[in-house]
Amino acid sequence: MTFDADCIFCKIIKGEIPSFRILEDGSTLAFMDINPGNAGHALVIPKYHTPDFLEAPEDWLSATMVTAQKVARAVEKTLEPHGINIVVAHGAGAAQSVFHLHVHVLPRAEGDDLRLNWGLVPGDMDAIGELAERIKANMGVL
Ligand code: AMP
Ligand code: ZN
Repeated sequence: MTFDADCIFCKIIKGEIPSFRILEDGSTLAFMDINPGNAGHALVIPKYHTPDFLEAPEDWLSATMVTAQKVARAVEKTLEPHGINIVVAHGAGAAQSVFHLHVHVLPRAEGDDLRLNWGLVPGDMDAIGELAERIKANMGVL
């Protein structure tokens, strides 16, 4: 595994800063976004520091997408949203703000009017923590 000491997502992987973890395996980690575009917004990352979609080695990208599917299934089961966007921002011009590859699993509600560049507004940490537990509970039963 290769990490970047200054990368916030590498710090999350190593447990140096807290996160609401919902799924973890040998090569990937999923956790809740603390500035959720909608309730249930989760992130999936490789346990390897690669800055973005175009740089990512194929095996890390594949593992990340497979975990994203598992997370999306659990989010679907937990929240029954109208839909789910699976989103990757590539580059600052596309509103990428963290340069460690990550896939957004973003539940959608009809009429939420969520735009591609949703703002980073801090969520309610208690509510995020509760949702994380509910999603986690639905992770293994699919
Ligand atoms: P992007 O703008 O596509 O690079 O997405 C980065 C995402 O990481 C944003 O949605 C942020 O809310 C999220 N984020 C940043 N720091 C943290 C953190 N410490 N824990 C959880 N999510 C984070
Ligand atoms: Zn990193």
